[in-house]
Amino acid sequence: MTPPVTHYTGSHITFATMHGKEHLAREAFRHILGATVTAPPDLDTDQFGTFAGDIPRVLTPRDAARAKARLGMQIANTPYGLASEGSFSARLTPLVEQMEILLFIDDDLGLELIEGTLTTSPLPGGRTITTPLRASDFAHALGFPAQGVILQSAQDGQITAHKNFTHLDELQRTAEALLANGSTVTVLPDYRAHRSPSRADTIRTLCNHMAKRLATECPHCRTPGFGKVDVEHGLPCSHCGAATQVIAADLHGCGTCPHRARIPRRQTRADPTWCDYCNP
Ligand SMILES: [Zn+2]
Ligand SMILES: [Zn+2]
Repeated sequence: MTPPVTHYTGSHITFATMHGKEHLAREAFRHILGATVTAPPDLDTDQFGTFAGDIPRVLTPRDAARAKARLGMQIANTPYGLASEGSFSARLTPLVEQMEILLFIDDDLGLELIEGTLTTSPLPGGRTITTPLRASDFAHALGFPAQGVILQSAQDGQITAHKNFTHLDELQRTAEALLANGSTVTVLPDYRAHRSPSRADTIRTLCNHMAKRLATECPHCRTPGFGKVDVEHGLPCSHCGAATQVIAADLHGCGTCPHRARIPRRQTRADPTWCDYCNP
């Protein structure tokens, strides 16, 4: 199959990752755009913070993604960069909310585009354990070894992450040693893309959306990357017609000119449950 000719056909895009995310973008970017995605060698993205908490995250997800993309572009010496950033919060306990963003930079055109998603993670949050057997039981429940696990130990305010287990007995032995020296031990799902099939799927989906977006030109100035930039709330209540906080439309925008397009959602009326007048 001959890939279509797009603005990015034949270009090399660098995905700032040390966890194999370039493989998650490769197919969509080749088929939809005719572009090649590779990862820069010797990149350390852990400096921007880790899931395990041993290196704190100080930047917002968007700033962290931008910093990673720019570092990758600098190493690979390309004007095109990709980076993703995921964050997991246990706010809806016991459910874990997963926010994932994929950022694309084109320095030739001055573009910075974001595709994002907010979902409920299929993985539960961490669990503090008191016996080595509990560690292996919980790891098993998380889907280990296909889904990786991290042992996080805390002692005197010092957090250490133990990663890259491949066998249950190895995990159990480490948990045993940590518990024996008096550490508090928590078993966490390893969210790094190469150790988490469900997170890899989320990133692959965002890569697909980004590739389609980069194949979409602005109807006004022909710049690639025309797509969703915002949403419009205010869908009218089906009972009284008042505006609600329910999303009425997606707003699509251009990365360089002010052109916007309003794409109404399929639903035309909101359930009165969301209405401030009918259900205050
Ligand atoms: Zn109403
Ligand atoms: Zn435009």
